[in-house]
Amino acid sequence: MTLIFDGHSYRYELESLCRFFFTGETVTSVFRGTPEDSGDYEAYILTSLRRGEGGTTLTVRARYRGREEQAQDKVPNGVRDYDHDCEYAFGVLLYRALSALTGVFPQWGVLTGIRPVKLFRRLLDEGKSPEEARKYFEEQYLVTPEKSALAACIAENQRRILSLSGEKSYSLYLSMPFCPSRCRYCSFVSHNIEKTKRLVPDYLRLMCEEIRAAGRQARELGLRLASIYFGGGTPTAVTAPQLRQILDAVAESFPVSDALEYTVEAGRPDTIDRDKLRVMKEAGVTRISINPQTLQDEVLRAIGRNHTAAQTVEAFHLAREMGFDDINMDLIAGLPGDTLAGFRDTLSKVMALGPENVTVHTLTVKRSSDMGGEYASLYKATEEEVSAMVDHARQRLMDGGWQPYYLYRQKNTIANLENVGYAKSGHESDYNIFIMEEVHTILAVGAGAVTKLVAPTGKIERIYNYKYPYEYIDRFDQMMERKNRVVSFYEHNGLK
Ligand code: SF4
Repeated sequence: MTLIFDGHSYRYELESLCRFFFTGETVTSVFRGTPEDSGDYEAYILTSLRRGEGGTTLTVRARYRGREEQAQDKVPNGVRDYDHDCEYAFGVLLYRALSALTGVFPQWGVLTGIRPVKLFRRLLDEGKSPEEARKYFEEQYLVTPEKSALAACIAENQRRILSLSGEKSYSLYLSMPFCPSRCRYCSFVSHNIEKTKRLVPDYLRLMCEEIRAAGRQARELGLRLASIYFGGGTPTAVTAPQLRQILDAVAESFPVSDALEYTVEAGRPDTIDRDKLRVMKEAGVTRISINPQTLQDEVLRAIGRNHTAAQTVEAFHLAREMGFDDINMDLIAGLPGDTLAGFRDTLSKVMALGPENVTVHTLTVKRSSDMGGEYASLYKATEEEVSAMVDHARQRLMDGGWQPYYLYRQKNTIANLENVGYAKSGHESDYNIFIMEEVHTILAVGAGAVTKLVAPTGKIERIYNYKYPYEYIDRFDQMMERKNRVVSFYEHNGLK
């Protein structure tokens, strides 16, 4: 598919929206005028903007599989948010033309952002009632009633926790960029720990140094710790003494007992043992993740996870025995080789274990992952089935007493579906809500981590750490210099 921009550059939104209709296919953008000018395309979408005395005329003309659709709209001259209005109008025109041509109706309508609930909350903050906000989602953004109801439900379930975040609140994120093996669908920067073992001691030493520096900054700025999240990668991929090294540095540098929540993503069941659970317990960790993704052994093998379903169940029981009373389990809908029946079976077994949190992800495959080559076929074959998995999970979990409390979307997700965290009442993950709704600063430590500075005005600034462990080690001092921007951000925003 060729997407042609003529007379404007509202590129990002239109490209993102276009991909919803052609997931797995290549969409090429060109800036060369009409299809007639730029070659005879078999499949194209022409988006053109013409300014005139009576306003700006926006036209979308699309051709696909021998059929053609055209739609037009006008934006008056002199409107306050001219660019926003043009971009929005283009989005609606594109959505309507492509739905008519492809029969695809993306459930989140013209919304392309990863945080629809944040947008929903903004409507509530502007004074709309939940019903009015839902209506707005459905009529303006073309969101389905099911998804607008989900956004409304999550916005309500987040209210209490969001009220716990104040002007000087912050959360701490730690990143461990190693895993016991690489999952085939993974596009994170995570290294097989067996192959990169020699980097680990240096990495951990410098990570402790970065933790101490972040602690000093937080104290200097008088910030208030809200939550801690240790993810990656797999934090428990390292040995128990190495894990203790990191958690001790955290305990020395931050008032851990002030945090509402301290999560460690134990993630892979094959990395969990009694010693590591003890280290976490003694360090004050309150919540862990043990992620099955699926409890179907043949699917686990197909995606390159070197553990069995039985190991997940064992790890879960061990964690319970060691006193962990807040456990999250991640599932993925749409894994290659999984079926609706297999997914339902996994969900039933997970629910029977009774974790406090269940997070249901929809498979996202980036071309950079080991599954990149199967990308297109994987998507087209499974859209309906994956939709059914996601709907089934929502229904069963909500009936079983787990309520949706946070949601985010990613690019390249099958059927453009979302990821949703469900929790038993009182067990919602504070960190997940804080990061997703961008209500306060996240001080982030470790390779690939991104510090996100949030001012009360909503202004956001990011500081990126080096992605790869070897870069993180080699250019540590350079990276730490960049982190001085944390203090200057607070000074410039009058928060120091
Ligand atoms: S456990 Fe997570 S981070 Fe590690 S390879 Fe698998 S998907 Fe990637």
